[in-house]
Amino acid sequence: MSAVEPVDAALLRAMPLPEHREGEDKNRRGRVLVIGGSTEVPGAAYLSGMAALRAGAGKLQIATVRSMAPQLALAMPEARVTGLGETPAGGIDPAEASRLAGRIGGVDAVVLGPGMLDAAAVAALTRDLLADAEGSAGFVLDAEALAGLRDCRPALRRHAGRLVLTPHAGEMAGLLDLPKAAVEADPLGAARQAAALLGAVVVMKGGCSHIVSPQGQAWSCDQGNVGLATSGSGDTLAGIIAALMARGAAPVVATLWGVFLHGEAGNRLAQAQGPIGFLAREIPAELPRIMREVA
Ligand code: AMP
Ligand code: MG
Repeated sequence: MSAVEPVDAALLRAMPLPEHREGEDKNRRGRVLVIGGSTEVPGAAYLSGMAALRAGAGKLQIATVRSMAPQLALAMPEARVTGLGETPAGGIDPAEASRLAGRIGGVDAVVLGPGMLDAAAVAALTRDLLADAEGSAGFVLDAEALAGLRDCRPALRRHAGRLVLTPHAGEMAGLLDLPKAAVEADPLGAARQAAALLGAVVVMKGGCSHIVSPQGQAWSCDQGNVGLATSGSGDTLAGIIAALMARGAAPVVATLWGVFLHGEAGNRLAQAQGPIGFLAREIPAELPRIMREVA
């Protein structure tokens, strides 16, 4: 089994992010589509989207439940927001999968999952979307979208080489059908198993995050602090990784950078405000300066 490398600034400098020339337009700098939110958690799509823009994506679209779309559009004037049909439980109607799949050819990276509720509906939407989506967009699958992935392996194979999964321990337990305690006892092993099973880059999130490529290369990142264990924190990570992919970084490069930037943003917020109590919505604004300094 390959050795585990630490994720630090020296590693990242050896795998630089794409550069963007003066004169390049916003489409060239990457178009991100965030599919997420629900009537109970509409703000998760906001957090992912804001993080994507702050990580440098040129253009942002959000697709969310219809009843929340106008509020989200006003809260986020930078985004194009589309309202989708809703399930009685307030999630996105899986019947919207084909309409969404048709939009994926026009974007560079998709975040699917943050804030989505109604497990059966999310599983159906994820399965159908992955089965129908054309084009070469990267996918970051997070939160509830991870739950049914073991049943989606043929559809996942259609997007091989462009997939990143970002489970925390509870989501990883669901993904691998293991007790959460087993994942917590061997988080790196769980990440290796999921990466091999699903052919994706996997981030096993936690106090120390483990990143494994589909080929079995592994990294660990102990950047960050306990203040990042806060509602919405993971939603921003998903948006960051998607933006870096949309800008042209390979999935594994986008993921290593994303995990580091997220952790370092947490460190700077802890330094400025105190170790706990900073907000997920404050993470994105830290990113531009960190990217400049690490590059
Ligand atoms: P989520 O649970 O989806 O909101 O994701 C939480 C995010 O915060 C992940 O990126 C975790 O790696 C990170 N995180 C949680 N707790 C800690 C901690 N104690 N130290 C560093 N990062 C953490
Ligand atoms: Mg999460």
